[in-house]
Amino acid sequence: MSDEWAKDPRAGHDEIDKGIESIKRIFSQGQGRVKRVIDKAGDYWQQAQAMPTPHQAVGAEEQRIRRLVDLWSNENWRVAKDLGTYMDLVSYNTDEVWEITLQTRWETRNMESVTEPYKGRSKATMGQPQPLLPVWDYELPVVTGLKAPPSRTRLEGLDETIACTNCNGTGRALCSTCNGRGWIVCPECKGRIKKRCATCRGRGYVADWTQGEKKPFFRRQAENMANSVGERVADVFEGIRQQGVPIPNPVDTDPASKGPTVPCPDCVNGEVDCTCGNGKRVCSACEGARMALCSHCAGTGKLMRHRELVRRFDLRTQTRVIGESSIPQQQLAKAVGEMVYSTEVTEPLYPQAPPENVPMDVWGATVDLMKTEGQQKPGNERPDSPLSSVLATLQVVELLRISYTKVQYRYSDQDYVLYIYDGEGCEKVYAERFPARWDRVERLVRAISNDLVTATPEEPSSNSSHTKGYRAPTDTPPYNITEEEGTL
Ligand SMILES: [Zn+2]
Ligand SMILES: [Zn+2]
Ligand SMILES: [Zn+2]
Ligand SMILES: [Zn+2]
Repeated sequence: MSDEWAKDPRAGHDEIDKGIESIKRIFSQGQGRVKRVIDKAGDYWQQAQAMPTPHQAVGAEEQRIRRLVDLWSNENWRVAKDLGTYMDLVSYNTDEVWEITLQTRWETRNMESVTEPYKGRSKATMGQPQPLLPVWDYELPVVTGLKAPPSRTRLEGLDETIACTNCNGTGRALCSTCNGRGWIVCPECKGRIKKRCATCRGRGYVADWTQGEKKPFFRRQAENMANSVGERVADVFEGIRQQGVPIPNPVDTDPASKGPTVPCPDCVNGEVDCTCGNGKRVCSACEGARMALCSHCAGTGKLMRHRELVRRFDLRTQTRVIGESSIPQQQLAKAVGEMVYSTEVTEPLYPQAPPENVPMDVWGATVDLMKTEGQQKPGNERPDSPLSSVLATLQVVELLRISYTKVQYRYSDQDYVLYIYDGEGCEKVYAERFPARWDRVERLVRAISNDLVTATPEEPSSNSSHTKGYRAPTDTPPYNITEEEGTL
């Protein structure tokens, strides 16, 4: 796309000025949101009246700043083009912030009892009986890494044989399928003994096909085809209805509406006898014996109980920024920074003994963060008991230095501040406000202007203060200014 104002930046300004004026006239009575857009666009327009002059960088640092700001402004369509070249540099100074990241892996240990049917005493269960210890007294495999999956460890020497309470040690219990009755309600007739007749769908009559005039062959074929498809669809709906879902059958039409009928040859009043005879069927699980092997103990009357230690790992990350800067924390979080200190904490840290290159206050805050983290166990854990407790079993602390340059500058008679931060090659720019790249704004204004002028209904001038005829703008404006490439 061509950059139409690049050669003569003042070309077309008069037209836009007129556009803004006409929009202001139309919306002099309000229309809150649109009015704000217009006012803002007008401000941009005012700013753009004074054309800046390019500046030659003096010294390496100024050159760096101008180069980076140029890069930033040319990647960001909202920012005045070539800002690094045209801005008046007022002052700049370099400072740093520190980002402390503390990652704590909390380990939860739970002692669980697991029972299984008794299978006779095997070698594994014959081991020397061991006392039950508090959960942290067991030496378990070392788990490395901040993120670890949960695991279970079966403890040796804690197996016990106990009686099965489900069958009271007899190995036999009431059959769970029939609740000890020996029979179940017949699933076909739901205990009604009678079933609906499939031939007439419970109506008790069918169409009298012998009646009526002879139909031509093809018509008869077509009807038979339609009937057989209809039958199948009707069967599906019938099935659904019999599951207890009260839906009408869209296909099954009463034959009585089509012509003469005769009584159904297969049933009496639409019902036939069910094959069960009495509404009950013998329970297939116990074959009518009412009792079955106890499922808990597999009929042995005994259970094997052992203990398992369940470990779960939760990672919690805390971040704190130390140092003064107006750069928001979420922006700093994206910085690569310079890793000054990174370690797995294995012994207590002392606030008076900072590592090399780490300032005293940063170190003090790090020790504080460790202390508070250590006092706050995660989640709603049960109070620590010999059978369940939580410990921080791995802590990693990282100290990141992020240097930044605060740049104060003037542009079009206005004062601005921006921050260049992060290391060489990955510098980022943060600015709360900045001179707008107004040639884009110009296009926005023109788009709004065109749209509003065409959207405003014709009204007598005496009535122009009432703009109720205009449809209120929606939340999302229809103006869409797309990013362009290669406008440098
Ligand atoms: Zn049992
Ligand atoms: Zn039945
Ligand atoms: Zn029937
Ligand atoms: Zn049974």
